[in-house]
Amino acid sequence: MIHSYFHIHSEHSYDAKLPLEEIAKGAMACGFTRVGITDHLNYNDPPFLQNIYDSAAGVKALREKYPFMFLGVELTPIQKAQFDYIAKNGTREGYALPKGADRYGIELALTKQELMALGIRYAVGAAHWSIDTIGTEEAHGFEGTLREFYRQQMWLAEDERVTILGHPWYNGHGFWGEDLSVIPRSMQMELAAAVKENGKYVECNSGMLFNKYTGEKYRYQYAEMLREYFEMGIRVTYGSDSHRSYNNDRILEEQPLAGRAHEAMAKYLAAAGFKDGDFYTLQDSDLW
Ligand SMILES: [Zn+2]
Ligand SMILES: [Zn+2]
Repeated sequence: MIHSYFHIHSEHSYDAKLPLEEIAKGAMACGFTRVGITDHLNYNDPPFLQNIYDSAAGVKALREKYPFMFLGVELTPIQKAQFDYIAKNGTREGYALPKGADRYGIELALTKQELMALGIRYAVGAAHWSIDTIGTEEAHGFEGTLREFYRQQMWLAEDERVTILGHPWYNGHGFWGEDLSVIPRSMQMELAAAVKENGKYVECNSGMLFNKYTGEKYRYQYAEMLREYFEMGIRVTYGSDSHRSYNNDRILEEQPLAGRAHEAMAKYLAAAGFKDGDFYTLQDSDLW
């Protein structure tokens, strides 16, 4: 059902350890026709920038032997005030959360021109945390976290740097891993409309489908949500978002599910009506 793959992390992500060549070999073994590497670029500080320089150099070298591999990036919204602080001081050290409206501003680490200058061909834009607190989303609870993810995702849907909206409604904080219907229908529809209107793609992320927060009911709901996007005319891409081993990402290692992530997903996707050929492969015209 799935033949391409646009979200995975190599050893150049701060939180991942997969060698690039292992990813390329794994992709070939699975028969993927086009694969994008999307290492994390969270902050505009030296460690993150170095990671992305290394990722770019690594993929460039890799493409000589594996030309179906492409260089992408995963961008996450950060505080605009923090972005400005880092731009001025060269470090996140010493940054303090501003008061008032300043704490809500959103930015991404590099401009589109800067990303393109590194040879990056597309971006997965994805919300991961609340940006108006220094701590974590726990400060917000369920309602606040939901509103914050909605806000960031709507922002990403409109940003020129985002090709694919990554892991919509990321559930890595455990707030909606059991029942996706806790996300109000109005929010779902407004996000889908924004994604469609701005010509973005949306991602089927197997990491979200098999993480420790996620139950069976959620998996079927998530596949149905993606099918609804698809039926609205929005293209759906696939990414395992693996950070560790290729065939069984960390999620599958934690869960006693046999097989490879994209194969383990097939029953949920089929139940929602997905057929072979429904998943979208980024074309040259989609790439920068
Ligand atoms: Zn992510
Ligand atoms: Zn990722």
